Amino acid sequence: MSALRLVEDRLFVSEVFASVQGEGMLTGVPSVFVRTSACNLRCRWCDTPETSWSPEGVVRTVADVLAEVLAHDTIRHVVLTGGEPLLGKGMPALARALHAEGRHLTVETAGTLVRDLPVDLWSLSPKLSGSVPDDPRWGPRHDRMRLRPDVLRHYVATGRYQLKLVVGHPNELPEVDALVAEVGAAPERVLLMPEGLTAGRLDEVAEWLVPAAMARGARFCDRLHIRLFGHTRGT
Ligand code: SF4
Repeated sequence: MSALRLVEDRLFVSEVFASVQGEGMLTGVPSVFVRTSACNLRCRWCDTPETSWSPEGVVRTVADVLAEVLAHDTIRHVVLTGGEPLLGKGMPALARALHAEGRHLTVETAGTLVRDLPVDLWSLSPKLSGSVPDDPRWGPRHDRMRLRPDVLRHYVATGRYQLKLVVGHPNELPEVDALVAEVGAAPERVLLMPEGLTAGRLDEVAEWLVPAAMARGARFCDRLHIRLFGHTRGT
């Protein structure tokens, strides 16, 4: 890839920061996060509304973002997140450049778009029916677009995935089971994560979600960043 191409590509970036991964199979691993702004969905409980409901950010060149990530030279893991990071026009260039630099790449995606990128871990977070907002404009649109089993199967077939499902009520568990079966995810790569932005709420959901995960051979997935830092940006 030429330097010129890098300079030409752009990303709408909400934030770039270093922290520990707070969710999923790599929980606790030091990582640099690139959070792009803009999303094709509008979850009722979205924890980053600044990238979806009210997108904020700065248009930056891929070269600029790349330099900021690589400046953290002791951190080998990079998490591309959003919003929906796969919407970013400059994302292929960024992912390929980071891969060429030997970084481990995780992409956090709702799994509604197929992109061919050199990714080490596709972190798929499809949205259950409880995510549909009570919003006359976005509710029906979100509900139509939130689930693409064909796209999820595409990523599951790579073998480099985790299926991370945000669950807020026990009545969502049959939907979880149906989705896992439909996309053919291995139980040990299924993570059930409590919906919640406070430690108290996470504990409340964990009371029934931990046994539900155990009964399915799935993982319970806590939200370490909420427990360490609360619900704040840059963590
Ligand atoms: S997919 Fe993610 S960023 Fe988009 S609205 Fe849902 S929670 Fe927010």
